[in-house]
Amino acid sequence: MIKIENLHKYFGKLEVLKGIDYEIQEKKVVCVIGPSGSGKSTFLRCINMLEEVTDGAIYIKNVKINEPKTNINAIRAEVGMVFQQFNLFPHMTVIDNVTMAPMQIRKMNRTEAEALGHELLKKVGLDSKAYNYPEQLSGGQQQRVAIARALAMKPKAILFDEPTSALDPEMVKEVLDVMKNLAAEGMTMIVVTHEMGFAREVGDRVVFMDGGYIVEEGTPEEIFGNPQNERTKAFLGKVL
Ligand code: ADP
Ligand code: MG
Repeated sequence: MIKIENLHKYFGKLEVLKGIDYEIQEKKVVCVIGPSGSGKSTFLRCINMLEEVTDGAIYIKNVKINEPKTNINAIRAEVGMVFQQFNLFPHMTVIDNVTMAPMQIRKMNRTEAEALGHELLKKVGLDSKAYNYPEQLSGGQQQRVAIARALAMKPKAILFDEPTSALDPEMVKEVLDVMKNLAAEGMTMIVVTHEMGFAREVGDRVVFMDGGYIVEEGTPEEIFGNPQNERTKAFLGKVL
């Protein structure tokens, strides 16, 4: 589904990704863990073309996306992203947040987009908030709207960058539950997270990043139960 070859990313002279090779299979959930500053967000942002790749290749369904001729909007329609800070449009109602991209980019008509929007809001348990504004919602509710908005583009995969890190503790579960349901429905997902319980339970694969490299990857049982690399062991020793 997504293939990354020898991915390098520099910000000026700072090398942040130092040669990443990875493949994500369809319908799998890959959880990415690792210390702050290790390049996890940059990795996701390169896949979504929010950052320009310095060197290497990213393929989505065998199509190389880091090419000058690539239509960035088309890639973002295929690969959705959910951010730590929700990033809803504050001046738009919940339903308008969800329907805007399918109407503008997928050229869906309003009736069709709104029907889909209400269906997705029901799925995340928030159709009753369709005509509210983001500021009238809790953080957990806003993040669930952000997930509905990503789904509205009917993406082939969704990237999540620490989706629960900005939430009060009592709201974490409602967001993780929505993500767990998506995983069970077969959505391909890459999830950068500090929620080790989620990674262990929902992840098909767990990737440990440190210093711009994928240091180790494996099943949750392998990474959490029997990590091989000293840096993985040291990190898990601090967070578990
Ligand atoms: P993580 O998500 O694992 O915490 P990031 O990918 O955000 O790590 O950052 C990796 C490194 O890249 C950090 O040293 C960070 O300061 C740097 N970095 C990230 N974004 C930028 C940017 N836009 N300009 C310069 N440096 C950046
Ligand atoms: Mg980050």
